[in-house]
Amino acid sequence: MTTRTTATASGFHEPGFASIDSICCRAGTGAADGTPLVAPIVQSTTFCRDGVDSRAAHQYSRVSNPTVSALEDVLGALESAPPAVCFSTGLAAETALLLALVRAGDHVVCARAVYGGTTRLLQQVLAPLGIDSTFVDATDEAAVAAAVTTRTRVVLVETPANPTLEVTDLRRVADIAHAAGARLVVDNTFLTAALQQPLSLGADVTVTSTTKFIDGHSVAPGGSVVSRDEALLERVRFVRKSTGAIQTPQHAWLTLQGIKTLPLRLRAQSSSAEALARRLAAHEAVERVHYPTIADPALAAAQHLGAHGAVLAFEVRGGLAAARRVAGALRLCRLVEHVGSVETLVTHPASMTHADLTPAARAAAGVRDGLLRLSVGLESVADIGADLDAALATAALEAAR
Ligand SMILES: *Cc1c(COP(=O)(O)O)cnc(C)c1O
Repeated sequence: MTTRTTATASGFHEPGFASIDSICCRAGTGAADGTPLVAPIVQSTTFCRDGVDSRAAHQYSRVSNPTVSALEDVLGALESAPPAVCFSTGLAAETALLLALVRAGDHVVCARAVYGGTTRLLQQVLAPLGIDSTFVDATDEAAVAAAVTTRTRVVLVETPANPTLEVTDLRRVADIAHAAGARLVVDNTFLTAALQQPLSLGADVTVTSTTKFIDGHSVAPGGSVVSRDEALLERVRFVRKSTGAIQTPQHAWLTLQGIKTLPLRLRAQSSSAEALARRLAAHEAVERVHYPTIADPALAAAQHLGAHGAVLAFEVRGGLAAARRVAGALRLCRLVEHVGSVETLVTHPASMTHADLTPAARAAAGVRDGLLRLSVGLESVADIGADLDAALATAALEAAR
């Protein structure tokens, strides 16, 4: 026996809801007589057995834990899938998923515009183990088709992409992957299942950093793997048990509280982001704005569920120096390496998230020196707009001195 399935209902998930809003609102909610309304944090590393052959649902918290299971039930239900497999971080989820899918000699085709940590994992951890990757412009289907070989097991894309917000056509890329016998993995961190359902668009697996919008409050790191392929989920759980990267019950519990407002937050934050994208596009100090509806409005409308996410990026005229001045002059927008929280967050990728790439590698990932990434929060859109205007004006004054 390799591993035991933990795909049992946690008792803190109410099946039967079809709508994403209801599934989220009732995340981790008890129903049976006498159970707590809110799923408890089960703070125990181990669980009692009534005999050596016990088949109890939980035995040891590296393998499974009731609080983590409650989160897994919800994250699976959000994509009409069996329970998710949850991890300590998004990158732990990506690592376990890739270890479950590839072995030495296999090949990965990865979008060039992906989270920097994904690139680092493929190039600096998996490549030395004999798993090589080719990076392509995933919005160019001919390029994806040309990169796939008989050794390709995985096509990995992120859409909308970080930080360029370009949109990949998941149906088309799924067809290319499947024709080659590979699986399509989608990093759905920016939109989450509330705004995009990759499995219904042809993807085989969704991987999400729950650290970002799903938690939504910058308090709980986590990652999830969702698929309708039970054998693959079993393999991912086996890798998690063998490598020890399960999420803690506290972080699963905090994430469950965040999920309750996920659709509301994402809709409100997306609507502010869209308004700010329009405002910035009309600003004389801004050269270019990146947002899914600008990158590919038809595909964004077809692929997203009524909103396009809280993340936008804009290029300041004057390049590196100008962008650094604007980043330094923002007051309400917080300068951090993060997206997805209720606060508006700003990042200068060239000096922060993508600083250890060469200028050529940055250019290939679409990260220009003047680019600023904004994760729009729940403050009033007027306040965020005023902060951006003031910072752009301050930066222009400083430049003129
Ligand atoms: C943050 C992030 C990750 C990695 O998640 P962690 O929880 O920080 O490990 C992966 N993909 C995307 C798109 C991200 O933004």
